Amino acid sequence: MKPGPKPKYSPEERRRRSVANSMKWNRKHQTIVNARICEVKKRNPEKYDAIDKAWREKNATSLKQYYKDYHQARESRFRQAVFAFYGGDNPRCVCCGEGHREFLTIDHTEGNGAEHRKEIGCGHFYSWLVKNNFPDGFRILCMNCNWSMGRRGYCPHQVKEV
Ligand SMILES: [Zn+2]
Ligand SMILES: [Zn+2]
Repeated sequence: MKPGPKPKYSPEERRRRSVANSMKWNRKHQTIVNARICEVKKRNPEKYDAIDKAWREKNATSLKQYYKDYHQARESRFRQAVFAFYGGDNPRCVCCGEGHREFLTIDHTEGNGAEHRKEIGCGHFYSWLVKNNFPDGFRILCMNCNWSMGRRGYCPHQVKEV
């Protein structure tokens, strides 16, 4: 197919592009922009502090949501990397072979997972594993097997086989 005439952008698309362009410019000239902002703020610090504060207050809810989403997206990327490392292309529970991602979790083979999670802080487990270069001593278990091993010290799947 021959390239058509120059695409016509919808108003929304045009706005998006113009924002993207000015962001690009800002990034390229970050130092200049920062210096300029700094200078303006220095001239009247109280005024700009108040503006900043009002903006943060006005946008508190969406800011909170933004950080929450950001953190969740980040953790989910780390989660994928962790499962790919410990489970390959097709991560499964090492005990029963459960393969649904929703059921799978990472188990601390030493059995002190709860303590360990507390130590590194809630919600940072997957990023911790990535940052620590996927340490030994972790395996993939499904929630059922993990729960049973944690609570009872064994999994019924293993008992049946013996
Ligand atoms: Zn299992
Ligand atoms: Zn099991």
